[in-house]
Amino acid sequence: MTLPMILRRRLIAAGLAAPLGAAVAAEADAYATARRRMLAEVEADMRDTARSTGRDRLDPRVAAAIGKVPRHRFVPAQLADRAYENRPLPIGHEQTISQPFIVALMTELVEPKATDRVLEIGTGSGYQAAVLAELAARVHTIEIVRPLGEQAAALLSSLGYRNVETRIGDGYLGWPEAAPFDAIVVTAAPDHMPQPLIDQLAPGGRLIAPVGSRFGIQTLQLLRKDAQGRALTRSVLEVRFVPLTRER
Ligand code: SAH
Repeated sequence: MTLPMILRRRLIAAGLAAPLGAAVAAEADAYATARRRMLAEVEADMRDTARSTGRDRLDPRVAAAIGKVPRHRFVPAQLADRAYENRPLPIGHEQTISQPFIVALMTELVEPKATDRVLEIGTGSGYQAAVLAELAARVHTIEIVRPLGEQAAALLSSLGYRNVETRIGDGYLGWPEAAPFDAIVVTAAPDHMPQPLIDQLAPGGRLIAPVGSRFGIQTLQLLRKDAQGRALTRSVLEVRFVPLTRER
């Protein structure tokens, strides 16, 4: 709530209102509280799904990133008050920002290290890219819907994420000039693991993708490349993502 300046000064003088700076800080803090609550729900989901995911809690670095990135900036303004609900939300163009638990889980499972180069397919709102950018050295992210990709690029830059590079295009093909990547996160569902992405994964790298049919069941699959370059895949959890499209 903003008060007319004169009225505010009077209230401050009377000791009934805090100076404006404090009001702004209080607003930021209101979101911080919501974010902490969201993080607690995400941790609860981690415990509930531990049997299939193999992880019962977030790495502290991942938890800190989820607790820091301002999700309310990545959703349409009219949905800002719902940004810290642990659920996906529409972002326009028939796309969604993923559920916070799923973003956290995928981030957790690709184990981004401070020196890592990471590729994301499906920039969408830019939220997952921001979380990855908190944890890795460099993030490359590709979006096929131009207006979404451009909006995310502008937002990420205005929030000060200097280590994210965005591109408009078909992420199925990866980003060969920037390869190899230590981690790859696919946030739209292909019906098979894209071979170009496997090829662009470094030895020791982790690739996570929701693989499955457009309307049926999709399974979060985690692929690891060992030091010799052999790929090993395991199924993590049943999920529901928008489809990976090939042409617009
Ligand atoms: N990571 C996003 C979630 C986006 S939903 C976030 O944090 O908000 C999936 C996104 O993948 C959509 O924006 C969709 O347009 C995009 N997408 C679908 N097929 C794609 C493709 N072949 N290449 C790149 N992006 C794709």
